[in-house]
Amino acid sequence: MKVNGKRVVSRLEEIYQCGKKEDGTFTRMAFSAEDVKGRKLFASWAEKLGMVCRMDEAGNLIARMDGQDNSLPAILMGSHLDTVPDGGRYDGVLGCVGALEVCETFREEGYAPKHPVEVIVFTDEEGFRFGKGLTGSSAICGQDPDVSDSELDIYGEERGKVMQSYGITCGDMLRAAKAPSSVHCFIELHIEQGARLYKTNTSVGVVSSIAGVNRYDVTVTGEANHAGSTAMADRRDALVAAAGFINKIPEITAAHGNEFTVATVGTIKVTPHSVNVIPGTCTFSLEIRDQDAALMTLIEEKLREELKSICDRYGVTYTFEPTSYHDPAPMSEWVKDSVEQAVKELGIDYTTIPSGAFHDSLIMTSVFPTGMIFVPSEKGISHSRYEFTEDADIENGCNVLLGTVLNVDNMTGSC
Ligand SMILES: [Zn+2]
Repeated sequence: MKVNGKRVVSRLEEIYQCGKKEDGTFTRMAFSAEDVKGRKLFASWAEKLGMVCRMDEAGNLIARMDGQDNSLPAILMGSHLDTVPDGGRYDGVLGCVGALEVCETFREEGYAPKHPVEVIVFTDEEGFRFGKGLTGSSAICGQDPDVSDSELDIYGEERGKVMQSYGITCGDMLRAAKAPSSVHCFIELHIEQGARLYKTNTSVGVVSSIAGVNRYDVTVTGEANHAGSTAMADRRDALVAAAGFINKIPEITAAHGNEFTVATVGTIKVTPHSVNVIPGTCTFSLEIRDQDAALMTLIEEKLREELKSICDRYGVTYTFEPTSYHDPAPMSEWVKDSVEQAVKELGIDYTTIPSGAFHDSLIMTSVFPTGMIFVPSEKGISHSRYEFTEDADIENGCNVLLGTVLNVDNMTGSC
């Protein structure tokens, strides 16, 4: 039994076109008209297969195919259809279209799964609109998505208002929680969004875990003073000290981490922010990602030591405040094994790799046995119109998803 790769590729394009905007980009921001259009198209494909589509209280679109025994826990597949601004054809969409393709292949081949099968299009995975994502998967896992109807998005629109396009409200979201006993496992097919598979010319990645993320706000405080009349020797320049620290991050990460350890300063702000004033404070974000929580702590310690030493040298002070933390999330062993078995049966070249990026699977694996399949992103590019994955890799990824579902469907008893 094999998927129809051409159908998958053409559907990726059809969903992409739903995001066409007047500014020339293709963007399906969560809850937008373009996002709703893409979801409607997706639901129409599922309904043609006789699948029952519903939207849960958190806005997750769920298409269900009955199993031979509907008292068995469901096999879940899925990902997200929302994109970042000017996003690509593959991020998220592949996991949704690929999951539907598995169901369509079942129908065409006359295969009746033992377990019910559900394809989930998660709500607002990307999260750029309100500054926090993984909204639908959090709700399904019974975790408070930490949202309110009155919060404003980046355009100043209220969440309660924009979510009317889905017909949902924040107060109801947690009612979308699925009982762990109702789920056999969850499997997500996704593009890698890194360059490891591309660089090694490997078609499929069996995901071992999703990196944990530790984020901090760091503020360095010196003294704002006149940029013309303050001698260099008399300065306590917060930005110069911060820059010295930031410059050491790659070295410290390389010395104490491994090839998957990353640390990044993504935002920076100085005050008073004037061309003729020495920066009095410099505030920046810092995040550390790795598969190993102990290593993340070690990197934090080493970075703190460096920050202290540099600030002492420049006569400035600092604060180092943790802002959020996600544990590293290993995939379920038996689901991972089922993915690996499927790849081997298909004779496709593969490697086992961790994910540096967040996915709905990060949340799902905290409650349900979860596995992930990666396919290559050309040059590691994602979140961009230049995102590209070869048709052959897409077909391989979908066939691995199909094989995995068959493997887990044939498991009996508790896994
Ligand atoms: Zn994604």
